[in-house]
Amino acid sequence: MTLFEQIANHEIPATIVHEDADIIAFHDIKPQAPYHIVIAPRKPIPSLDYVTGDEAELLGKMIVVATELARKFGISDTGYRLVFNCGRHGGQTVDHIHLHLLGGRQLGWPPG
Ligand code: AMP
Repeated sequence: MTLFEQIANHEIPATIVHEDADIIAFHDIKPQAPYHIVIAPRKPIPSLDYVTGDEAELLGKMIVVATELARKFGISDTGYRLVFNCGRHGGQTVDHIHLHLLGGRQLGWPPG
């Protein structure tokens, strides 16, 4: 079972900020910005590289949840970033697809 499945099953503690039938979201344990939320589907798709058209609705829901959380945390006016890391060069460390919501400070570009 992946780390994020264990968080979704409440087997590993996390500060969960959203849960529904398909998606969970929680504070990142090592935040890279004042607001750093991880949004993951309950379905353990390993990465973007495994996505097919069957997951289009699920991925859309993840983005909608992220935008709702940005409004909830009051960062939608100042702006934020949504990031999928994919694979080794993309910086992915947990092999369960997830979206990072980062905000609350000026973010640099391009990323390192
Ligand atoms: P990535 O590097 O894109 O695979 O992102 C994985 C993220 O999960 C990293 O930002 C980690 O800090 C975060 N993370 C790892 N373990 C935990 C945990 N137990 N609770 C919350 N976030 C975690």
